[in-house]
Amino acid sequence: MLSTEALRPPQPEYTLGSILIVEDEDTIRETIALALQEEGYEVLLAEDGYTALSMAHRSNPIDLIILDIMLPYINGLDLCRMLRHEGNHVPVLMLSAKGSESDRIVGLEVGADDYLTKPFGMGELIARCRALMRRRRFESHGQGNVLKFGDITMYPQECRVTVRGEEISLSPKEFRILELFMGHPRRVWSREQLLEKIWGTDFVGDSKTVDVHIRWLREKLESDPSDPKYLLTVRGFGYRLG
Ligand code: CA
Repeated sequence: MLSTEALRPPQPEYTLGSILIVEDEDTIRETIALALQEEGYEVLLAEDGYTALSMAHRSNPIDLIILDIMLPYINGLDLCRMLRHEGNHVPVLMLSAKGSESDRIVGLEVGADDYLTKPFGMGELIARCRALMRRRRFESHGQGNVLKFGDITMYPQECRVTVRGEEISLSPKEFRILELFMGHPRRVWSREQLLEKIWGTDFVGDSKTVDVHIRWLREKLESDPSDPKYLLTVRGFGYRLG
């Protein structure tokens, strides 16, 4: 018997980013998936708007969504509108069979970043994906003004953080810890490194201080602090974001 794991397409060990493809037509979805995997992207697949929405809510960050307009349950325009309303600013490349100007305008109005009309070539699709992801990286790292991870958005210059669209209040230490994590997603930090970076080398105390602050941060960031999705414990090493 095949396990579900065996049915997943093989994924490269290191990827250029995760792309969620939302398309109900099997041939188009699979063709796009194959082309992007060959380019080195990790690919996630959804056949309808409802599945796509729940995938976007998971903690694993998605770097780009390729979103067809005509979809079962929730169409692409409504899905994009819902994501933006929740404060999710993941780049969205909208796909449509209709090439009309009004469709394109509505797509961009609901918050899509780019728009591609079927039929299109894989070369063009890949070029658009690359450009959107490059632009996003520039926005988050180049300007240093907004950091995003999953549902968390940080505005360092305004000392402001929102989680799932709601503003939360953090102590200065909590803010600096989160800023460090968000600047280096998935990087593991030992308690000693965190003490040095946040408290300074002249800090007198022990690494339990770090654990306490992580616990407080979890209570503010996580939907279920006892089962964290953002601030993860790496046993024997320390902590990481995502
Ligand atoms: Ca469709």
